Amino acid sequence: MHLAIIGTGIVGTCVGAWLQRDGHRVTFVSDTAPGEACSFGNAGSMSPSACLPVGMPGMWKQVPGWLADAGGPLTIRPSYLPLLLPWLARFLLHSRPAEVTRIATALRGLLAPIFECYEPLLEHAGAQALVRRTGCLYVYSSSEAARRWQWGMNLRRSLGVALRDIDAAELDALEPDLRGRFRCGILAPENGSTLDPEQLVKALHARTLVDGASLVPGEVIGFERKAATVRALNLADGTRIECDGVVVAAGAWSAGLTKQLGLSIPLETQRGYHVTVQSSNLALRHTVMAVEYNLMVNPMAMGLRLAGSVEFAGLRPPPNYARADVLLAKGRELFPHLDVSRTSCWMGHRPCLPDSLPVIGRAPRSDNVWLAFGHGHVGMCAGASTGREVAHLVAGRTPQIDLKAFRPERF
Ligand SMILES: Cc1cc2nc3c(=O)[nH]c(=O)nc-3n(C[C@H](O)[C@H](O)[C@H](O)COP(=O)(O)OP(=O)(O)OC[C@H]3O[C@@H](n4cnc5c(N)ncnc54)[C@H](O)[C@@H]3O)c2cc1C
Repeated sequence: MHLAIIGTGIVGTCVGAWLQRDGHRVTFVSDTAPGEACSFGNAGSMSPSACLPVGMPGMWKQVPGWLADAGGPLTIRPSYLPLLLPWLARFLLHSRPAEVTRIATALRGLLAPIFECYEPLLEHAGAQALVRRTGCLYVYSSSEAARRWQWGMNLRRSLGVALRDIDAAELDALEPDLRGRFRCGILAPENGSTLDPEQLVKALHARTLVDGASLVPGEVIGFERKAATVRALNLADGTRIECDGVVVAAGAWSAGLTKQLGLSIPLETQRGYHVTVQSSNLALRHTVMAVEYNLMVNPMAMGLRLAGSVEFAGLRPPPNYARADVLLAKGRELFPHLDVSRTSCWMGHRPCLPDSLPVIGRAPRSDNVWLAFGHGHVGMCAGASTGREVAHLVAGRTPQIDLKAFRPERF
């Protein structure tokens, strides 16, 4: 089959790589170069433990405080609020305990096989060195603080996530750069991360080209259909790409495309920021999640990456790099000795559904269109497992993961 894949982020790239393993011919279409949209600047964490949704029980009580605090983890541009309200209402409904348990169970299914799904692709592309499994440390300033997050940690444990409590002495020994700042932690030893998310996507993508895939630069603006079958994609520059099937993996921009297929999906962008400290003088060994700071810290090939923040402002407005300054200020609080003489910052559009689950499945009322987007905060983690499962769906095989919770028609 000749499949056209819209998007060359981590998701589209992994879908293409897995489809090639089944012998399909693949044509990627993208309006940015591989790995240069949201997959470019994320925190690179590859965490089987990252199965909790964004909306957690009782979180709504913290929202007013966060919004009032310029250094808080959440901002909403006032002009965007009226547009966002229906999505927020749905988001809150999904943050009730029973829903959170259901969502975490589904996400755990997608995240548990992260490495078994990445490994064959990494090996084939010769890119193993871009991924390491050094574990993630969740750190807390006190045992009372750790108790506030205990419900979620227990849920993770109940779903089979390996987690080990560690005390201040062990924490200091594991990460001397954090010495004295945190009183307790939880080590997720099975977690990993990439040293460079952009290069990871580029390496996997380059291998698909060597294996015969094509890449057509351009923006897809429409589908040519005959009854329930898509015959071709139409691009903004007038190009027409004939194909036997389509995978929509266009990240935060996917909903505009599915609308043309008659499917309305409440996809929102949670804009996130990073600061990369190129001059970093730290020697961190783990990915560190400073839970009370809502800050993820990852030592990468190009420097120390500090990432986080959720900003609701839609796809169009330019970045507000004051949000990145907040991340850097938090980083300096954590590591007072951090050399910040050289830094760079970035904003990316996380593709988010109100239930924190991606859409993975065949598009309703279309025989040959599959959807793979909406991975929110875990797209790097779940790119390869999504790719494997989409390949199963295209081939008509039974998926290895229970995909019911991800079905496109759930909204
Ligand atoms: C600050 C931050 C930190 C993060 N940290 C992590 C982390 O540690 N771990 C993790 O797992 N995830 C993390 N994420 C989330 C992760 O980056 C995303 O979930 C992931 O990159 C989404 O990948 P994607 O392939 O769906 O989308 P993208 O990478 O955004 O790719 C979308 C692709 O679609 C193309 N496209 C869109 N519309 C069209 C069109 N009409 N025609 C043609 N092409 C089109 C784009 O050009 C692009 O190629 C983080 C995100 C942010 C912002």
